[in-house]
Amino acid sequence: MTISRKADGYYITLSLEDKSVPALTTKVEPTLKNTLGIDMGLKEFLVTSEGESVPIPQYYRKSQQRLKTLQKRLSRKKKGSKRRLKAVKTVAKQHKKIADQRKDFHFKTANELLLKAEVIAHENLNIKGLAKTRLSKSINDAGWGNFLTILTVKAENAGQKTIAVNPKNTSQDCSNCGEKVKKELNIRTHSCPHCGVVIDRDLNAAINIKNRAVGHSVLKARGARRNTGAGKREAHIVAPA
Ligand SMILES: [Zn+2]
Repeated sequence: MTISRKADGYYITLSLEDKSVPALTTKVEPTLKNTLGIDMGLKEFLVTSEGESVPIPQYYRKSQQRLKTLQKRLSRKKKGSKRRLKAVKTVAKQHKKIADQRKDFHFKTANELLLKAEVIAHENLNIKGLAKTRLSKSINDAGWGNFLTILTVKAENAGQKTIAVNPKNTSQDCSNCGEKVKKELNIRTHSCPHCGVVIDRDLNAAINIKNRAVGHSVLKARGARRNTGAGKREAHIVAPA
C-alpha cells in the first residue's frame, strides 16, 4: 500500500496479490532423457538412476548420537530438579538443531536434483503397507516424507515435476531385461543370471523407478533393446561384490 499526496488530496494505492490464481504450469512429459529416478536407500540417502549417490551427512548422524546421549542424561535427573529442567532445555535445543540440519540438507539435495533433470521419479511412499517393509527405518530416520514434499513443491515452482511410482519389486526386477531376480536385503549387488548385468542394487532400483515413471514397460524395454542394442549403457557400473 502506498499513500501519495497530490495537489487535490491524498491518494491511496493498493496492490493485491491473489494467491488463488494458479502459477504458470508447464506441462512436462517424462521421457528417458529428461527423467531421473531416485532410490531411497537404507545405506545412502538416495541413489540416482545415473549411479550417483547422496549419503546421509556425517554431521547429521553425529547430531543424532549427541541427542541420544543427552536424552540418557536427562532420564537420570531427578524429577522437579533444576538440573532436570536444564537437561530438558538442552534436549529441546538439540532437537531443533537436528530439525534445522535436516531441512537444510533436504533443500540442498532437492536443488541439486532439480538441476540434473526436469522430472524426478521416486517410489510412492503412501502405498499402504510400505511402512512395515524395508523402507520403514529409513523413512523415519531420513525424513523421506518431508524431503519429497520439499522436492515436489520446488519442482512445481520451477515448472518441473516429480512422479511417484509403484514401489513393488523395484529392487528385485532386473532393470536391464525385466526378469525378477530375488535377493535378500543384505545382497548389495544386482547380478542377473538372465542377461548377465551386474550393477549396484540401489542403482538397479533407481533405473526401474525411472523406467516406471517414463512408462517404459519391461516388454517395451525388451523391444527397444532388441531393435537398437541400447539398454546396456549402465552395465559398466559394477559394484564391488
Ligand atoms: Zn537381466
